[in-house]
Amino acid sequence: MAKIDQHGAAPKGAMTRGRKVKILATLGPASRSPEMIEKLLRAGADAFRVNMSHGDHETHAETIAAIRAVEKAIGRPVGILCDLQGPKLRVGQFAGGKAVIRHGSHFTLDRNPAPGDETRVCLPHPELFGVLEKGQRLLIDDGKLRLKVIRASEDAILCSAEVGGVISDRKGVNVPDAVVPVPALTEKDRRDLAFAVQHGADWIALSFVQRPEDVAEARRLMGGYGALMAKIEKPAAIDRLDEIIELADAIMVARGDLGVELNPEEVPPLQKMIVAATRRSGKPVVVATQMLESMIESPAPTRAEVSDVANAVYDGADAVMLSAETASGAWPVEAVTIMDRIASQVERDPGYRQQVSFAEVLPDHTTADALAQACASIIQTVAISGVIVFTGSGSTARRVARERPAAPMLVLTPSQKIARRLALLWGAHAVTTKDIGSFEEMIAKGKRMALRHGFGVAGSKLVTLAGVPFGTPGSTNLLHVVTLTGDELSRHASQSTS
Ligand code: PEP
Repeated sequence: MAKIDQHGAAPKGAMTRGRKVKILATLGPASRSPEMIEKLLRAGADAFRVNMSHGDHETHAETIAAIRAVEKAIGRPVGILCDLQGPKLRVGQFAGGKAVIRHGSHFTLDRNPAPGDETRVCLPHPELFGVLEKGQRLLIDDGKLRLKVIRASEDAILCSAEVGGVISDRKGVNVPDAVVPVPALTEKDRRDLAFAVQHGADWIALSFVQRPEDVAEARRLMGGYGALMAKIEKPAAIDRLDEIIELADAIMVARGDLGVELNPEEVPPLQKMIVAATRRSGKPVVVATQMLESMIESPAPTRAEVSDVANAVYDGADAVMLSAETASGAWPVEAVTIMDRIASQVERDPGYRQQVSFAEVLPDHTTADALAQACASIIQTVAISGVIVFTGSGSTARRVARERPAAPMLVLTPSQKIARRLALLWGAHAVTTKDIGSFEEMIAKGKRMALRHGFGVAGSKLVTLAGVPFGTPGSTNLLHVVTLTGDELSRHASQSTS
């Protein structure tokens, strides 16, 4: 049995990670095979993102089936996030997949579905043609290319390329100078949402949220199924952030589009503000996009990228995300490995603990929050090797994680759905177990599972949290400190099932 330091991380082994922050890796052509999925999981990925902006349902169904097969083989719950494209504007396709637009040249966006070239491409969004005016900007591929409208008609938008470059299939288009009259969910989003529900996605991400009503609408369409993540990438969403957080189950700081819709220098303070606001709510927050961008092509990140990942971890984000680095890059496993190493290094820094603790934020006036805070306080006072949380809905785990406790957290739940969803929650190592019926059973099972998953050794003290009567949602009312004894160790050695 590996050793556990007093307030440190749980040891590795049996896929118990030492790391608290989670890694969300996007799957794509470079990584969606079962072999790559397993490699990414072993390298440190906790959850996978299926980007509905690319690919077809058949491919996504195969990807999801592959994740579930690897999950079963590895024996660790894996979260799947289906990320809806939202009313994201994208160009069509090019003959040969890409074209080069020269600086200062003319380029036309039109309604002709024929493959594009260096002079034109299809813009499959009829709503844009009546809206754009001379002088307005079109930003392509996260703002890497900048076009200015010379003339716009119902059929074609003629532009001059202020900043040219390589444009490739289905690159994103932002129109920061115009209000585009688009609904929160497009027809495609509705189809993709139905697909995600049907294929058992644990999380569904809603893109380009502008209003709380957008979140409410998506939730209505989800019909009580799965959990909803609101992506913050529009300035309008910032204005109503608290209401959006209230209605969503999690938040993503989608820095790609946020940094295009706003000036890039406005993103870092907003990132900190969004992470802090979401953390106060106790809901998971993911920091996304360009975290290790150079690793799309290079096996090593830049120093600045390493700092960026580290800073998101220091801010106490629940998860950090990889996009093209793992979806289509040349070094997907290396990108996850590096992210794991950066996060683990930050979490070993004694300063991290102080930085992520929530000194200034009081708990809600609930029994669950009082106990979660008491748990964090006990860990400060007594050497605790792990927190065992019994939960049906995941709520107790979220309230405990909100306190960012120093000891690692083992979450025991009868619900596989909840265990998978917790793959994005800071510090939660979730295990699916049979429900418990009594206090004695809870203590015995807590100790047994703590030993099995490396959360304690003989003599270790553990904090146990649960709700009685067992199986009643929202009933968190029990906190108990237990010590593992030599007897349990020998019983553990002779038992192998829960
Ligand atoms: C983003 O814009 O940062 C983002 C995560 O969204 P997408 O990758 O879907 O454009």
